[in-house]
Amino acid sequence: MDKIKEKLENIKSKGLYRNFKYLQSCQKSRVTIDGSEILLLGSNNYLGLSDNLLLKEASKNAIDKYGLGAGGSRLTTGTYDLNKKLEEKIASFKNTESALTFSTGYMANAGVISSLCDRKWVIFSDKLNHASIIDGCTLSGAKLVRYKHCHMDDLRNKIEIHKGEYNLIVTDGVFSMDGDLAPLDEIASIGKEHNILTMVDDAHGLGVLGKNGSGTPSHFNVSSEIDIHVGTLSKAIPSIGGYVAGKKHIIDYIKNSARSFIFSTGLPPVNLATALESIDIVKNSDEKRKHLLNLVSWFKENLIQLGFQVPNTCTPIIPIIIGDPNICTKFSEYLLEEGIYVNAIRPPTVPKNTSRLRISLMATHTYEDLEYVIDKLKYYGNKLNII
Ligand SMILES: *Cc1c(COP(=O)(O)O)cnc(C)c1O
Repeated sequence: MDKIKEKLENIKSKGLYRNFKYLQSCQKSRVTIDGSEILLLGSNNYLGLSDNLLLKEASKNAIDKYGLGAGGSRLTTGTYDLNKKLEEKIASFKNTESALTFSTGYMANAGVISSLCDRKWVIFSDKLNHASIIDGCTLSGAKLVRYKHCHMDDLRNKIEIHKGEYNLIVTDGVFSMDGDLAPLDEIASIGKEHNILTMVDDAHGLGVLGKNGSGTPSHFNVSSEIDIHVGTLSKAIPSIGGYVAGKKHIIDYIKNSARSFIFSTGLPPVNLATALESIDIVKNSDEKRKHLLNLVSWFKENLIQLGFQVPNTCTPIIPIIIGDPNICTKFSEYLLEEGIYVNAIRPPTVPKNTSRLRISLMATHTYEDLEYVIDKLKYYGNKLNII
């Protein structure tokens, strides 16, 4: 007991203690927190589909037809005709032979990697890959070789040194805390050159990048060269669940061996219906994507002009690097007082000394919204001696 109290105190003393903010409304560009209306600048709901009327209608209809809950794991009673439709739709959207849904994206990564790889494998993983990828690698028992973030020379070097009999290269498509893109064109060609399986987790790319929003591999024109596509149904797609897509025999094997797939209840029909209906809407959202990416470049330009440290990215994830976790938290608290909700991201989510405000934009934001934000960032950036 005392040991746990001590650990908790340790987290607090380092400025790393985290707490909830309770949303009392739909996740739109404005949300209600503590009864006040707040401008939301931290959501993964990039296309603003969480209150889409067609989707809400489809979801209500699914509840009327299928009721609530899934009632079983996928290989027992927890598979619905909606699963088949959704999995076929995902496969076609990702341009693969087959797809399989998991209960979350986290479980997809954990299950896919640990079912495909074992002690005989070597996994080459970007240093900034999502925690669920790292946990999947650990679960698999494979030898884990982490290469420098997006550093292809380092990847080549490490392949020379560590390549084994069976190998996997795994990367985020869009990095969740930095917003930059993995060089998937080079990763695909390195994979081909060395006969290594490639896997991309595109949680933040789906719906935002590529043809019809089909993701980062499409953005780089290498969709068919990536062997394993993982992603989530809970970001641009406003539902819950994860997916893996790829060649039929790979997906079939995962279905028969991934423990996070087999030993967990399937997705409730309502969530399947939401995701299914979302994909068509996402495909037809070119206007939204265009507006979103225009907002991103306008906003970033303004931040850089003010002197903030902003990495060079083209996605709606815009980190403002602060460094110190306490200053970062203070900054986000000031912003909240001004009616702006931005997440202060601190270790262990990001490396030490890189605490940051992680801003994410939505297609439902306006230039007027962002002018207000720029104004407040300037004021508090000066006050906290960051710019
Ligand atoms: C959010 C996220 C996940 C997890 O997906 P969930 O569906 O939320 O469990 C996996 N990978 C990346 C890169 C993510 O950002």
